[in-house]
Amino acid sequence: MPEFATHEVFNQPEPLVDINLFETNRALQDALRFNAPGLDPAPLRELGALAGSAGMQAHARLANVHTPELRTHDRFGHRIDEVEFHPSYHALMAAAVQAGLHGTPWASPGGGAPHVLRAAGFMLFTELEPSILCPISMTYAVTPALRGNPAVSKEWAPKLTSRSYDPRLLPFTLKTGVTMGMGMTEKQGGSDVRSNTTRAVSDGADDWGRRFRVTGHKWFFSAPMCDAFLVLANTEAGLSCLFLPRVLPDGSRNALRIQRLKDKLGNKANASSEVEFHDAAAWLVGEEGRGVPMILQMGTMTRLDCALGTSGLMRQALALALHHTEQRVAFGKPLLEQPLMRNVLADLALESEAATALALRLARGYDRRDDAHEAAVARLLTPISKFWICKRGSAFGQEAMECLGGNGYVEENGEGVMARIYREMPVNSIWEGAGNIMALDLLRALRGGDAAAALAHELAPAKGAHPALDRAAAQLPARIEQMATEVEARRLAQEVALAVQGALLAQTAPPAVVDAFCASRLGGDWGQAFGTLSARTDFDAILARALPH
Ligand SMILES: Cc1cc2nc3c(=O)[nH]c(=O)nc-3n(C[C@H](O)[C@H](O)[C@H](O)COP(=O)(O)OP(=O)(O)OC[C@H]3O[C@@H](n4cnc5c(N)ncnc54)[C@H](O)[C@@H]3O)c2cc1C
Repeated sequence: MPEFATHEVFNQPEPLVDINLFETNRALQDALRFNAPGLDPAPLRELGALAGSAGMQAHARLANVHTPELRTHDRFGHRIDEVEFHPSYHALMAAAVQAGLHGTPWASPGGGAPHVLRAAGFMLFTELEPSILCPISMTYAVTPALRGNPAVSKEWAPKLTSRSYDPRLLPFTLKTGVTMGMGMTEKQGGSDVRSNTTRAVSDGADDWGRRFRVTGHKWFFSAPMCDAFLVLANTEAGLSCLFLPRVLPDGSRNALRIQRLKDKLGNKANASSEVEFHDAAAWLVGEEGRGVPMILQMGTMTRLDCALGTSGLMRQALALALHHTEQRVAFGKPLLEQPLMRNVLADLALESEAATALALRLARGYDRRDDAHEAAVARLLTPISKFWICKRGSAFGQEAMECLGGNGYVEENGEGVMARIYREMPVNSIWEGAGNIMALDLLRALRGGDAAAALAHELAPAKGAHPALDRAAAQLPARIEQMATEVEARRLAQEVALAVQGALLAQTAPPAVVDAFCASRLGGDWGQAFGTLSARTDFDAILARALPH
């Protein structure tokens, strides 16, 4: 008998570790079959096992507890501008690069579904650790824009797509793999980048094309240890997109100073910095004075990742909530068997599955960019998915946390994963174009001819699946006409998102999910908090599908 045996510890659930995140995610598997029918899921099964393993989860905890530190100078006083990470950060980065979540799809020969495969992998990895995916996402996103400078793109592409993670600060020619970031946001404006004051002065030309000297700052500059960045700066012709490496081809360091690291709410393992450039060397990408549309090619791809990332976080939060409530007993039975808790969990399961279906459908658009319909779908669904999925994330995270009661709110040296998820949720809604900017972008997409037709085409296969969905689809063209004004842009984005989610579920999910989703989100049989589904809902079927085992 221990000396201080005051009580026995019981009714505390076991942690959710050593599960295969892919094999236990039926919604993801069905969405994958729908969007990439011939795809071999073997790599995802492998990644699902790795990402759910106790060993990798320990890395995720450590990388979030031992956060990055800025070293501005060495001990002799030389300026070094380096960020030091815990070894677990590097272990996570190496695993993400090894899984091909960065540039690898761009190296795939035509055909197949490399972007859908990578999107599913990105969701799985998010369940392990989302913040290191910031540089991974930017490295994935940069390729379409970087092609605006064919000489740089030709030399850097093999390293951007390589599956070797190489964190050393060296000229790119000596590295086995590289990562890239982006710098748009300045102190006086992030959404409205036309206010950028950073300037670039022409400095001749070389093998990489027209060279400039950049002076100014960036107020948010994530993952400053990347090997290079696309930045916006004003040349004589206006805002231009420039390629700015950290180490110059001759091996010297470029004139980029990291002022400090941001003290963020979440996203702790990732370093986000403030930087200044003092005559930093950079090379023109695309047309001079057309920098915004050029760098937005990168922004568009990162918006896809915001939707994928939030979908992954939702699935993780749902799995944790289900796992906990299955084991935790209150008032005589497991919480999972309490009728009102079943309503909350089923409602979360619907939201999670709808997010997965929408985000993966969007990814399919990027696999077939040469197809006019798919290009129009990608244009339409990018702002919708980024707006709606990410907007739902924080409310979702709060409700899932509450399923764990007080334990959900406790961090305990990084072991309380739910708290980490909750702190991460808002960032996907803010960066890469905050909610209003996405809703306004939807208006722009709808003005561009093909979008309304693409939307009708997407909804058509679901006709007859549910009366509420049919009504919503029939009303949408008129709603788009009525609401295509700035003041109602969020209402419109919400209505389009829900109709598309309903139509996708009708093609990928079992009837219980489709009925409950359409009745609640489209038919008005729902309240304003999660857990307000009708008593007619088939809770058993929805929960059995969502359980993480
Ligand atoms: C952790 C983190 C990391 C980041 N990393 C990077 C990075 O690596 N590189 C980079 O360039 N940026 C980065 N950002 C910056 C991010 O992209 C911006 O914060 C974001 O684009 C919003 O810009 P802002 O902060 O200047 O806000 P503002 O532009 O001032 O916007 C404030 C609010 O006003 C709304 N708004 C703006 N215009 C309108 C309008 N016309 N109508 C209605 N509402 C409007 C916005 O939706 C937003 O809600 C990062 C941000 C965070 C939080």
